[in-house]
Amino acid sequence: MKTEKMFIGGEWVDSVSGNYFESVNPATGQAIASIPEGVRKDARMAIQSARQGFEQISRMSVWDRSKLLVSIAEVISRRREDLARVLTLEQGKPYYSEALDEIDGTVMAFADAAEQIKWLETSVIPVEDRNKRVLTIRQPKGVYAIITPWNFPFMVAAEYLAPGLAAGNAIVWVPAPTTSLCAIRLAECFEEAGVPVGVLNLVTGKGAVVGDEIVANPGTDAIGFTGSTATGHQIAVRGAGKPMLLELGGNGPTIVLKDADLDHAARMIASGCFYNAGQVCSATERILIHRDVHDEFVAKLVNHAKEIIIGDPFDQRTTMGPLNNEPVTLKNDIHAKDCLDKGAKILIGGKRAANKTSDLFFEPTVIVGVTEECLYNKEETFGPVAPVMSFSTHEEAVEIAARNNWGLVSSVFTSNLKDSMYFAENLRAGIVNINDSSNYWESHVPFGGVAGKASGVGRIGGKYSINEMSDLKTISLDLR
Ligand code: NAD
Repeated sequence: MKTEKMFIGGEWVDSVSGNYFESVNPATGQAIASIPEGVRKDARMAIQSARQGFEQISRMSVWDRSKLLVSIAEVISRRREDLARVLTLEQGKPYYSEALDEIDGTVMAFADAAEQIKWLETSVIPVEDRNKRVLTIRQPKGVYAIITPWNFPFMVAAEYLAPGLAAGNAIVWVPAPTTSLCAIRLAECFEEAGVPVGVLNLVTGKGAVVGDEIVANPGTDAIGFTGSTATGHQIAVRGAGKPMLLELGGNGPTIVLKDADLDHAARMIASGCFYNAGQVCSATERILIHRDVHDEFVAKLVNHAKEIIIGDPFDQRTTMGPLNNEPVTLKNDIHAKDCLDKGAKILIGGKRAANKTSDLFFEPTVIVGVTEECLYNKEETFGPVAPVMSFSTHEEAVEIAARNNWGLVSSVFTSNLKDSMYFAENLRAGIVNINDSSNYWESHVPFGGVAGKASGVGRIGGKYSINEMSDLKTISLDLR
């Protein structure tokens, strides 16, 4: 087992604590790497180094930053299989059907940022005073504190690192502890691509320690965080006053009307529930079915759940690996028991899979008779579950969908254009997908939570991220 290092000031370093923690393969329970247990002093050194890195990157021309992003994309692309292997090993997602795709998406995010930054225009604003000319420019915000979760360790990181660098910021990055090795491998790609010293700094360790330090320290100018709503709220307090992008939890209500193509809906909803074993912020976590088509739809959904092959994520036949860690698996146990206690009926799954290489494999689960009191409806489950409820009218469906804390992605299945627009306009969500899984998204499309809910603040995706991660400066010229 290799002892790894953090990346600070262009050097691979140990933590000043001298301590390490183990990164564990969730499919086997075996340790795969020894990771430095960073402490606040390490984070402070990383912030100092980023300050110097900012001097470098903010002076680079837009074209040079674009070339740097292309180089990073090329290195990631060249190391595709190696990175996907680490992703499967440490996160648990199937190598062939999911991990390779995540690396391809990561390449795309850097390539896209390289393009977007070249064509990002600002405006010249007509004003009342004839002697004035007023224009706007975009400037980097400075040193960014970036904190990422473990469900898409490459892709979510790329959602900040690519536009962040494109906009001319320097970065201090704290990844989720359980996917630290993925972060170290991605930082290697930056080094190989020739990123200037101090522009990217990676600090591994506990979020409540090193993550908190980079959020609260006055040396960072802005924050980008993807993770749970609870942590997001803490970060909003600790980083109060700094510009923030907060991409938090979801509980993706998906509504199936009686005129929907039920075969298509069941296929898409199964993918929304079971992709990445349901560990997706946009996962389909509440399914609202029109009463008239409930039984027919549920039968189709159960068939999809039966087709899933759980097992070794490196086996080409496997379509679902383990969950990433014990706390998320325990939450799935608790939510399944809670719904049984409240009278729901589990048609398939609802428990950990027996006779597997670790205790973190959870069976694909379909449950009917779920009520609004069930935890499935109140919390984010983050597992391979399809909790089904029913409704009679459009208004009732919109009300049930809105009656919880989240407002990230919703989906609607119907063949009626007018109904599509009714739901698109009335659902309280940042994104509404018509006739597709709640997971449909492309990395240049705006993505984020609706106001008034607990799914976050701001929009990521392509030029929207670059806008969020830069400051708009107004310049007025007096020509008198
Ligand atoms: P989490 O909130 O537990 O941890 C996220 C990150 O925050 C980790 O790196 C963690 O170490 C760090 N952290 C923990 N406590 C901290 C603190 N006090 N200060 C600073 N950093 C701290 O979330 P998770 O379990 O890693 O990820 C799953 C969550 O992420 C889910 O809720 C999911 O919906 C959400 N998510 C959202 C999106 C989105 O785009 N909206 C995308 C992916 C995941």
